[in-house]
Amino acid sequence: MRRKIVAGNWKMNGSKDLVNSLVGQIRSELASLDNGVEAVIIPPALFVGDVVRQADGQIAVGVQNIACWDSGAYTGEISAGMAKDSGCGYSLVGHSERRQLFGETDEQVSVKVVKALASGLDAVICVGETLDEREAGKAEDVVSGQVRKAVSEVGAGQWQQVVIAYEPVWAIGTGKTATAEDAQAMHAAIRAVLKSLGAPADEISLLYGGSVKADNAAALFAQPDIDGGLIGGASLNAEDFVSICRAMP
Ligand code: 13P
Repeated sequence: MRRKIVAGNWKMNGSKDLVNSLVGQIRSELASLDNGVEAVIIPPALFVGDVVRQADGQIAVGVQNIACWDSGAYTGEISAGMAKDSGCGYSLVGHSERRQLFGETDEQVSVKVVKALASGLDAVICVGETLDEREAGKAEDVVSGQVRKAVSEVGAGQWQQVVIAYEPVWAIGTGKTATAEDAQAMHAAIRAVLKSLGAPADEISLLYGGSVKADNAAALFAQPDIDGGLIGGASLNAEDFVSICRAMP
């Protein structure tokens, strides 16, 4: 059975006050939820310890990025081992904002996936095409290529730590969502790529991200190859985030 996951990527938003007001509320509202969804909060790294304490083991916690190295003279970086040590179970890897704004390459994404898995974190590998690439009819090629490179060093026994998030770049923070059918088609293509690589593709959770809101989540989550969501803006509001978790069948 694939895990159903709804993860909230706070990006560079929030404060200790937000942690205090949001996490406890989400935790108590999710306590009565019985649809098997695993909620994950991915705050700025400085707040991970606070979120872990408030989540009290009921909500998983992740980091938004990890370093390509284990330790050493890399000022400003945070290793996968440190994230694990601080109570994280997940790391995003290769979010499109990291790729676009910080020049993160497919090779670096692949190294970060290796580091995450070796440290015992689950890697949420983010992939997605730009609007130009979609309009040029290259969306599937681009995404397939990103997936192949990102998982190229995953060991045979590590696939249960791999999650893939399809986030079309043009849908992030724009209010434009892929239609449920388009998202499903890409998810099916990603699963086919994983299968062709010999991975246990039917066991790997595939999340959709990009302007997921309380009112469009149910249609997306109803698709056979969409196993959850990676939520940006709507994860900063407890009611919205909980409604999205509830939208999982
Ligand atoms: P939005 O939900 O704000 O579009 O962000 C999606 C995203 O990038 C999550 O990682």
